[in-house]
Amino acid sequence: MDLLYKSTRNDDIKMTASQAILKGLSDDGGLFVPEYIPRLDMGPAELVNKSYQEIAYEVMRLFLTDFTEEELKDCIRKAYDEKFDTPEIAPISKVEDTYFLELFHGATIAFKDMALSILPHLMTTAAKKNGVDNEIVILTATSGDTGKAALAGFAGVPGTRIVVFYPKDGVSPIQEKQMVTQKGENTFVVGIQGNFDDAQSGVKAVFGDKAMAEEMDRAGFQFSSANSINIGRLVPQIVYYVYAYVKLLENEELLPEEELNVTVPTGNFGNILAAYYAREMGIPIGKLVCASNENKVLYDFFETGTYDRNREFILTSSPSMDILISSNLERLIYKIAGEDAGRCKEFMEQLSSGGRYAVTPQMREELSGFAGKFATEEETAAKIREVYEDTGYVMDTHTAVAAAAADKYRESGQDNRKMLVVSTASPFKFTRSVMEAVGADCSGKDDFALADELSKLSGMDIPRAVEEIRTAPVVHQTVCRPDEMKRVISSFLGIQ
Ligand SMILES: *Cc1c(COP(=O)(O)O)cnc(C)c1O
Repeated sequence: MDLLYKSTRNDDIKMTASQAILKGLSDDGGLFVPEYIPRLDMGPAELVNKSYQEIAYEVMRLFLTDFTEEELKDCIRKAYDEKFDTPEIAPISKVEDTYFLELFHGATIAFKDMALSILPHLMTTAAKKNGVDNEIVILTATSGDTGKAALAGFAGVPGTRIVVFYPKDGVSPIQEKQMVTQKGENTFVVGIQGNFDDAQSGVKAVFGDKAMAEEMDRAGFQFSSANSINIGRLVPQIVYYVYAYVKLLENEELLPEEELNVTVPTGNFGNILAAYYAREMGIPIGKLVCASNENKVLYDFFETGTYDRNREFILTSSPSMDILISSNLERLIYKIAGEDAGRCKEFMEQLSSGGRYAVTPQMREELSGFAGKFATEEETAAKIREVYEDTGYVMDTHTAVAAAAADKYRESGQDNRKMLVVSTASPFKFTRSVMEAVGADCSGKDDFALADELSKLSGMDIPRAVEEIRTAPVVHQTVCRPDEMKRVISSFLGIQ
């Protein structure tokens, strides 16, 4: 029997994994969730000495049950190859008493590569399985990192096109340069005069536009999503939590069954949700610490049970976490609402009409496996500097938010489990903020000059991803208002 996926807003909608990957978002605006979270049939001890690719197969086959062994292994082989700068794919660095799970060794040096290197393969396989002849148009809103990772994944993939919207003034210079220099006939990058939430809401509106879908179909296109709402992104992200636990066990950093806390720098709640799924699958994860920057809507939610996006949107040095509407939280709300799609829908309707909702005390109890912590801009910079001065290890701003949040969790004295901090970007992606944090003089220097200095200071080679864009020509220059997104997409596809 296949594991089916249902919508968080309507129990009657059910589809196979491959269909859910193709659709991205359910027609009713809900997110796809598996009918149940499968348990690993091999415990961590039995997975010891397996490679990343082998563990990926053991995890993903349980979720993507309508893919054949050959199809899935083929997708995994194509995704996790020399695009990563280390055969470990997701290495762990032990720095003082903290384990950093480095998820930035892929093509675009941020953790989005972990899932977006495999999504195009899952999607084209899914299209074949379901007899889809339309060209698939990937529509993506990005806070900076998804965009480039999705472009890198889908560029040149036959049968697909990709359109990326990013907040024109809300990403780092390196992030912007990475996107606007993207090659590939099937790629299209657009700056939005607005923030990430505007871009994401615009994309959701286009997805929900039935007239547009019909027009697209007539022209031989259909939309899909590479955003973290797609289960084709969520499932590959579960893999590295299983892998990390297994490696720590293998290296005798953990005893069998020992619980490990995990801190995740969080924006759209996709990465930490994958950790939650890993725990539900049977990996001994203790507390899940949800780390926020000054846009601490999730921290407030875990503290009070009220989610309230009515607040000022703050641009921080960790832009990939500058988000006030964390889409993937809907999957957790669904779960703690007793898998009641009707109730979940009510909360989400309150969120879109009034910008807030409050969960019940009973639902709050279900959140006890989570702790919310946040770090201010000063605390984030101080953490980068402190760890650099004490150990020489240089981390990026997002990772530093998590490291500072992990400290706050430890200081709260709730338990003394070991801590894994998820490291989501290379310091070379947010060079200026990192160099300022360590006290370097940055005035008058561009980001590439600073990358050279960072390389000297950290002893790390400049990643290929940065070298590549140093001299690359800008090929995408379109900028539009959020209300023009639909028109811009139509004109790129030539359907008007
Ligand atoms: C996307 C991103 C995050 C946030 O991850 P979510 O899954 O959206 O919570 C954190 N750090 C970096 C560097 C990112 O690119």
